[in-house]
Amino acid sequence: MFDEMKKTVLWHAKQAYKEKLFAGTSGNLSVYDREADVMAITPSSLHYGLMQEEDIVIMRLDGTIVEGSRKPSSEWQMHQVIYQNKPEVRAVVHTHSPYATSFAVNHKEIPVILVEMMLFLGGSVRVADFAINGTKEVGDAVVKALYNRKACTMANHGAVAVGESLEKAYLSAIYLEDVAKIYCLTPDKSAIHVIPEDIVDKMREKYHLPKD
Ligand code: 13P
Ligand code: ZN
Repeated sequence: MFDEMKKTVLWHAKQAYKEKLFAGTSGNLSVYDREADVMAITPSSLHYGLMQEEDIVIMRLDGTIVEGSRKPSSEWQMHQVIYQNKPEVRAVVHTHSPYATSFAVNHKEIPVILVEMMLFLGGSVRVADFAINGTKEVGDAVVKALYNRKACTMANHGAVAVGESLEKAYLSAIYLEDVAKIYCLTPDKSAIHVIPEDIVDKMREKYHLPKD
C-alpha cells in the first residue's frame, strides 16, 4: 500500500537535498491523496542521504498515523492547513533554499522580473508573516501569502511551493530559487526593470490565471 506515494516523496526529497533546496535536515515535502485522505510526508530530522522508503510517514490530515514508525515532519500542520484551504493543491514542498530565503530575511517581496514567474509561480513572490516553526500559524500565514500564487517565502525561515502534483510543486520550488538568485546576481539593483502591471495582466490572461 502507498508505495507510489512513498517512492515519489523519497525521490523528490533526495533530489531537493542534492539540488541544495534543503539544508541539513531542514525542509520537508508531501503529497496528498484527497480521495483517500492520506498524505505521504517526509519524517522529522532525518538525514536525506540516509532516508529510505519505509521512513516516509503516511498520515491523515487530522494527525492520525496510518503507516510508518518515524515522527512526521514537525511542519505537518503547515501541510495540513495548506491542503485544507487550497483544494487544487496535491503537493507541498517546503525548502530552505538560500537565495529565496534571503528575501524572507529582508521580508521583501520578489517582484515580477522574469516571464517564467507567471507560469511557474503565479506572479510576484510574497513573504508569509512570521510564525514560530512547527505551529499551525505557519500554515495560516503561508495560505494567506499563497493567494493566487504557487509559491511564497516565509519570514525568517524559508520558502513553500505548491502544485497539483509533486512534479509541479517541485518545479515551482526550483523556479523560485532561480528567480531569487538572478535578482541577487543583477549587477545594478537600482536598475532592475520590473515587468509592468498591464503586461502582467496580459500574461495572466495568456495562462488563464485568475486576476489578483
Ligand atoms: P522537519 O525535519 O521536522 O521536517 O523540520 C524541518 C523544517 O524545515 C522545519 O521548519
Ligand atoms: Zn523549515
